[in-house]
Amino acid sequence: MNKYLYKLYCFMQGRNGIDDLYKFCFIIFIIISIIDLFINSFILNIIEILLLIIMFYRFLSKDLVNRKRENNFYLKYRKIIINRIGILNKRWKDRNSYIYRKCPKCKNILRLPLKKGNHMCKCPKCGNRFKVRCFRNEKIRVEVIKNK
Ligand SMILES: [Zn+2]
Repeated sequence: MNKYLYKLYCFMQGRNGIDDLYKFCFIIFIIISIIDLFINSFILNIIEILLLIIMFYRFLSKDLVNRKRENNFYLKYRKIIINRIGILNKRWKDRNSYIYRKCPKCKNILRLPLKKGNHMCKCPKCGNRFKVRCFRNEKIRVEVIKNK
C-alpha cells in the first residue's frame, strides 16, 4: 500500500466518514452553491459555510454513537417523506377512479370508488361509519388493446 494512503487509512480509523446524512448535506451544498452563483446572496454564503462545517465535523468525528443516531434520525424522516410522495403519486394516478377520504375516528386514509351522491362508508380498520359525499362519477378511459 502507498505510504500516504496508509497514513490516511490510519487517520480515518475510528472516524465517522461518509454516511447518508453526509451525502444529503453534500447534495444540498451543491444545489445551494449553484443557486448562489446566480443570486450571490450573503445568507446563502453563510448556509454554505455552515453546511461545510457540519459535513467536516461529522466526517472526522470519533463520536460514532451520536453520529449514528443523527443518521438514523435523518433516515427515518427521509422514509416518511418518500412514503408521503408515493401516496400523493398514487392519488394523482387514481384521480379518475377513486376518491381518498380520512376516517374521522382513526385518521386512516381510505380509498373509495368514485360514485356520485351521498354514501355511508364503513372504515375497515376501526368499524366507524361516516358519510361521504362524492360529486362525480368514475371516468372510464377507453383504451385500444388490439391495433389493426
Ligand atoms: Zn377508522
